[in-house]
Amino acid sequence: MDAEFFRAWIAEIAAVIDAQRDHLTQLDAAIGDADHGINLARGFGAVQTALAAADTPTPGSVLLLTGSTLISKVGGASGPLYGTAFRRAAKSFGDAPEADLPALAAALEAALAGVKQLGAASEGEKTMVDALAPAVAAFNKAVSEDATVPVALAALTDAADAGAHDTISLQALKGRASYLGPRSVGHEDPGAASTALILHALRDVAARQAP
Ligand code: ADP
Ligand code: MG
Repeated sequence: MDAEFFRAWIAEIAAVIDAQRDHLTQLDAAIGDADHGINLARGFGAVQTALAAADTPTPGSVLLLTGSTLISKVGGASGPLYGTAFRRAAKSFGDAPEADLPALAAALEAALAGVKQLGAASEGEKTMVDALAPAVAAFNKAVSEDATVPVALAALTDAADAGAHDTISLQALKGRASYLGPRSVGHEDPGAASTALILHALRDVAARQAP
């Protein structure tokens, strides 16, 4: 996977977030302030503009610009959190011209660590961590068992979907939704839902580029 692959991933994220913008905003309307879809659509739109204007020859440079742009353009909690995730993944890739599956697994692990650290969040608190953590664990397991790219990415997205779905029964302990206390139960967390979409975009781009 080279820089072009990662630019294609970001373009796919921008498209899917745009298509699901109202859905994400509705999820946020139930337990937050109804801006999650708007925040991310604006953020990834700005990322697309930034990537079009810059030279990003490595996977790390693509993700570094993505993360920095999200941090500077997205006002909500999700901007710094996703921005940090992409920046940490970028650092994990370093200057390497290409990333293989173990490198991608390490980058996703670094992204997760960044979100948990910045958000002071752990699993079970009804945040994006509840989609990202099981996804990263499933992906690591698949990669360590020498899974093919499609099998490893299916494990990633299946676990993200299940994790996002399972946030419905959780009470929010972090972020705006935590102000609702027990009334946050019964709704899917918008950040967990968008994390699943972001990982779906990765799987879909890889499937499209497969020989
Ligand atoms: P805001 O809450 O500022 O309006 P968004 O609506 O864009 O920002 O994003 C909300 C999402 O951010 C939540 O659904 C949750 O997944 C995630 N989130 C909020 N706070 C935290 C945190 N401390 N740690 C991890 N994720 C968080
Ligand atoms: Mg919000």
